[in-house]
Amino acid sequence: MLTEQDILAAAQALRDGELVAFPTETVYGLGANALNPIAVAKIFEIKERPRFDPLIVHVADVSQADEVVESIPEIAQSLMEKFWPGPLSFVLNKLPCVPDIVTAGLPGVAIRCPSHDVARGLIRAAGVPIAAPSANRFGLVSPTTGSHVMESFGDRLSFVLDDGPCKIGVESTVVSFMDTNDGLPKLLRHGGITQEQIESVTGAINTQMHEESQPTSPGQLSRHYSPATPLLFSNDDSLAEMKNGKSKIGLLGFQSPSSSEDFAAIEILSKKGDYREAAANLFAAMRRLDALGLDLIIAEPIPEIDLGRAIMDRLRRAAAR
Ligand code: AMP
Ligand code: MG
Repeated sequence: MLTEQDILAAAQALRDGELVAFPTETVYGLGANALNPIAVAKIFEIKERPRFDPLIVHVADVSQADEVVESIPEIAQSLMEKFWPGPLSFVLNKLPCVPDIVTAGLPGVAIRCPSHDVARGLIRAAGVPIAAPSANRFGLVSPTTGSHVMESFGDRLSFVLDDGPCKIGVESTVVSFMDTNDGLPKLLRHGGITQEQIESVTGAINTQMHEESQPTSPGQLSRHYSPATPLLFSNDDSLAEMKNGKSKIGLLGFQSPSSSEDFAAIEILSKKGDYREAAANLFAAMRRLDALGLDLIIAEPIPEIDLGRAIMDRLRRAAAR
């Protein structure tokens, strides 16, 4: 159990320019004082994250958001009222106090107010906005438990605030209000708040996913969230060829295995077919399969509605070679 003392000590470490891993409702974050470029540089070093990939800045409330962005357009305000605190990040024009290393030199900064009590308590106690990507090595599977963080960075961090598994289990949705002609946001990354939920407030919006040639948002990198084991969809044309001669094959299924094949291991994301439960289980299930030394993981595609979009987005990138 985390105590108030743990959170205060971690907040002090953040103020001192150190890194702290902490739980959010999406995945575990690796945080630094967003206004201290040297502290933020440590995140890129330890994660081996390329400097072109900007970080999301976490705030305790809307008034702290005002300290890092120029202004909040009306539609963004409505979305914040509806979905904050929660898994929705907004890219807005940054104020000069936000160091370039945070935004990878971009004019916009992504901000989010997490709903997790420990995350908000930590940000409040630190008294500064916290830049935080997921607490894992760049490109690999995101951490949804404190133990996942310990596996990657246990010996290199003074503070890993462990509060058990994350409720949502996939990263935040990212919308951008930069360069919009119609005032409507562009969807840059599917995540914990669904496109349907956003459109219930804004009406139909543009999505900018899979524009590989010119990613406006590095979360659009084709290969990401990846296990070391090759992963292929069950409907992939090259599956037969890939399976040839391989004996240790694992299945990552949604509701129930759709084939009766003899798998070396099977992970089912949600027996009841619930997207929320499936999202919460996704990264931990990928990690368990990845730890078995399998030759191949076969993933079953799931319907792309609701949180199914975020799940399929992560699986596609895990499958990309
Ligand atoms: P994460 O690895 O979850 O921290 O993801 C952060 C992702 O949010 C980045 O890879 C981008 O896709 C997006 N993002 C963060 N900051 C910005 C920004 N300033 N402009 C555009 N996208 C951003
Ligand atoms: Mg990440």
